[in-house]
Amino acid sequence: MKKLIRWIKFQICKFRGHDWTTYTVSTGYYSYDIEQAGYCERCGYDTHGDYDNGD
Ligand SMILES: [Zn+2]
Repeated sequence: MKKLIRWIKFQICKFRGHDWTTYTVSTGYYSYDIEQAGYCERCGYDTHGDYDNGD
């Protein structure tokens, strides 16, 4: 059931766009290599898979 809800939310995002929360990730070996990442609060889509949402 949870999967279905997530799927429906993802369909909403496809039409209306993701509800982005932005965060930064370090991409390189050295911590000064920072990249902008995005997490969608609605469907849970994560550009880098690094967002800490408490799960
Ligand atoms: Zn989304």
